[in-house]
Amino acid sequence: MAADITALTRWVALFRDRIAAEQERLTALDSAIGDADHGANMARGTMAAAANVAETRPKTVAEFGKAVGMALVSSIGGASGPLYGTFFLRLGTAGDGLDELDGPALARALRAGLDGVVSRGRAEPGDKTMIDALAPAVAAFEAGADDIAAAAAAAARAAREGSDATEALVARRGRASYLGERSAGHLDPGSVSSALLFEALADALAE
Ligand code: ADP
Ligand code: MG
Ligand code: MG
Repeated sequence: MAADITALTRWVALFRDRIAAEQERLTALDSAIGDADHGANMARGTMAAAANVAETRPKTVAEFGKAVGMALVSSIGGASGPLYGTFFLRLGTAGDGLDELDGPALARALRAGLDGVVSRGRAEPGDKTMIDALAPAVAAFEAGADDIAAAAAAAARAAREGSDATEALVARRGRASYLGERSAGHLDPGSVSSALLFEALADALAE
């Protein structure tokens, strides 16, 4: 099995649905160590992204990445917009010329997306950001990429574990870093939305 445009489209719709279901929780997390807008930002962004894909009907992975990435960048005001936007734009570029991604190709695309977020935001693992969920998820996917559905399930588990581990960390990037030591004891909201991103991918590839 490979992730074709139908599966990728399902991924974005499921991401939107998971964000909608968790919107209040994401906002509550961001109100503890940020400015209480991560739920609204992600709800607006994922709604715009899913709608843009439905309207523009991308035919290639590159068109898909652009449709999602541009919608996220232009509809989210906060830091998460350019970061998630870059993730999807780079993912699309990595799949340039393809109309589906098999496991290894999806692993390369996810790695390219992660690299884009790192170069854009300059966060390292342990800085208490979405990178703490995205990086272990991509590594887990790569480790099992020959079985795409199992790899996506393992990536989702790794993302959730990485997100859970942000609770103990002191933030060194983003708005939460302004709190210094007081940021410890709370989950990073962006890591939680990144866990939802990979849970949505696992669901999209299990169907
Ligand atoms: P804002 O902080 O502008 O209000 P959001 O609340 O939507 O934006 O997103 C905050 C999330 O963005 C954080 O929880 C964190 O995971 C992520 N984030 C912030 N800055 C960075 C960065 N430099 N690198 C990676 N992720 C970051
Ligand atoms: Mg915020
Ligand atoms: Mg904000």
